[in-house]
Amino acid sequence: MTRTTPPRPLDLTALFPELAAYATTSTRLHPRPGTPAVGDSSVGGPLLWPADEPWPMCEDGDTHYVDELLPPSSVRRARTVYAAATARAAATGQPYELTDAERAELPDDSAPESLVEQPIPFVAVAQLYRRDIPDFAGPQDADLLQILWCPLDHPDTGYNPSVTAYWRRSSEVGRLLDQAPEPPVVNENYLPTPCVLHPEQVREHPYPGLLPDDLQARIAAWEREHGNGQGPSYHYDLSLAPGWKVGGFANWSLTDPYPMNCAECGATMTLLFTADSGEWQGGDAGTWRPVEETGDTSVGPTDIVIGRGYALYVFRCPVSFQHPVATTMQ
Ligand SMILES: [Zn+2]
Ligand SMILES: [Zn+2]
Repeated sequence: MTRTTPPRPLDLTALFPELAAYATTSTRLHPRPGTPAVGDSSVGGPLLWPADEPWPMCEDGDTHYVDELLPPSSVRRARTVYAAATARAAATGQPYELTDAERAELPDDSAPESLVEQPIPFVAVAQLYRRDIPDFAGPQDADLLQILWCPLDHPDTGYNPSVTAYWRRSSEVGRLLDQAPEPPVVNENYLPTPCVLHPEQVREHPYPGLLPDDLQARIAAWEREHGNGQGPSYHYDLSLAPGWKVGGFANWSLTDPYPMNCAECGATMTLLFTADSGEWQGGDAGTWRPVEETGDTSVGPTDIVIGRGYALYVFRCPVSFQHPVATTMQ
């Protein structure tokens, strides 16, 4: 099934023609739980990974910030339990409640902190084939982007996962790695539930604070005049697509914009990829929920939670795809 973003409630560029110069596109990924294969674009699915290439490992050891640690198998078992209880409540109309047997299945304690002192295998976050993603960016001859992260909190990147990106030519991968190594423990918020994708290209405009002052002022005046705060909002309805996406613009609403400069060459970086806690605002609020979804659809299909429900924006260097990516939580 495809996923379709509803048309924007109004055409912004008809009101403010100069906005057209600032527009860009993004590809909303619309991840939904499924069983992707190595030949598929996915979130949290298996990667097309060469058997003879070392898997990335994090050696940050005890510099990780540690709260609750769980083995990936415990996280998956708990999600199965919660999903069964949710389905039962929906089918019977009874309140959501776990049975004693289900409760006994849930992990009751954090795994030992010392487990983070060994090298931690990264986990697959996303695999994106150029053919599926209109806003794919990468070296000219690359047709595959793989994004992985260390599934623990890193104080040096804002207490977020540590992200790395690989571009490949899929035809040159050769013999495939049978089984990716699993980390002994994870922060459960950073272990994606495997999802298939339903990519859709949409139009975006920049975060309001990044527009020229006079344009910002005229948009704000128009918002006050039309609907007095009740009508469509530039920020929430008309500019920035929420959810997992490739390309587009970041929503800087946590810190306000700050420069993202390449650590290698100093260039101003470009948004590559977004991992978001939610695909749209809950309930009927907001205008970004695909028309195919009902109010019952989970707003967090990947089970990833960034901070207190924020998004992790991954930026790339426009000078070289070899330069390291950088992240900000917003
Ligand atoms: Zn790490
Ligand atoms: Zn650079």
